[in-house]
Amino acid sequence: MSETYKAFVTSEIETGVFTSELTNKSKDELPKEGLLIAVKYSSLNYKDALSSIGNKGVTRQFPHTPGIDAAGIVERSDSPDFEVGDAVIVTGYDLGMNTDGGFSEYICVPAHWAIKCPEGLTLAESMQIGTAGLTAAMCIDKLQSQGVLQENGPVLVTGATGGVGTMAVRILSNLGYQVSAVTGKMEAESFLKSLGAKEVILRQTLEEENNRPLLKATYAGAIDTVGGVILANVLKSIAYNGAVAACGLVHSPQLPTTVFPFILRGIGLLGVDSAEASAAWRQKLWHLLATTWKPNIPADSIKNVPLAQIKPEIDLILQGKQVGRVLVEIH
Ligand code: NDP
Repeated sequence: MSETYKAFVTSEIETGVFTSELTNKSKDELPKEGLLIAVKYSSLNYKDALSSIGNKGVTRQFPHTPGIDAAGIVERSDSPDFEVGDAVIVTGYDLGMNTDGGFSEYICVPAHWAIKCPEGLTLAESMQIGTAGLTAAMCIDKLQSQGVLQENGPVLVTGATGGVGTMAVRILSNLGYQVSAVTGKMEAESFLKSLGAKEVILRQTLEEENNRPLLKATYAGAIDTVGGVILANVLKSIAYNGAVAACGLVHSPQLPTTVFPFILRGIGLLGVDSAEASAAWRQKLWHLLATTWKPNIPADSIKNVPLAQIKPEIDLILQGKQVGRVLVEIH
């Protein structure tokens, strides 16, 4: 009898109806090529929640194992770049989208999707950071390249209690930025201040559409994880020559804006996509995340959740009620 392993599998039980459960899969069915990785940890991201409810923009074919993040140990390698026993991180590319993902005891992926876990990070720490932290780092790196520096003024972070948001608040404040955190959770003020936010703004104040071409120039830059009218209002509130790094759409994929912030204040709107980002950029940012940008994450601010108990956490992220990061324990 072939060896089995456990995976959290989403299936379409009838057209448009999806269910997810922990399932035994046969190791014989894993691809025969690529890196075979025994996954130790994964993490929960918004995209995983979308995949687990059958969102076809994320995952087209079911049954499917979500999990856009995985960290583990190489068990088989067809690449000179990796040896059996190497500790590796895989984030993005097609992992957890249409390739079975990290909510599983094993993944098998092309070698170029993996990077060696940098010195200074444990596998668990790498997944506390995960795609959320890498994306926050990409946003910060882009803002810095655009000249948004600590001395230029405050930086706004929307969706601040979310995965990307909490990572952005932590890293920016560690780097000496003055962070203004936007949240829909009134009760999260002291939590966000404990991460380093200087100011907490209620999301509702940015949710109103208005016809003014610009608002008071308040922020040097922003990291936006939500899109929609909130992003439009953020753009109007950026000071001359500032920039906004946009990575998410939990509020809306629409952007009801005019060209005024761009042509009257020289604002830059910088798109961030972590999934297809170059290997060189990932390596650079993971090195920073393991050293000078390493977020200080107190153990009690991360939820450690065994794979078997992931479902309620997915429900929370779908309702916008999740706070911070969820580390998924696999082995
Ligand atoms: P989370 O669910 O962890 O965080 C999103 C946060 O947004 C919530 O915690 C909440 O924070 C806020 N929020 C929830 N619902 C709404 C709403 N209706 N309107 C406004 N704000 C809302 O998600 P992630 O941090 O994992 O991801 C955030 C976004 O970034 C997603 O759209 C995701 O797809 C995208 N993303 C993009 C990546 C890329 O490479 N471009 C990579 C990773 C994520 P609060 O209550 O504090 O406001």
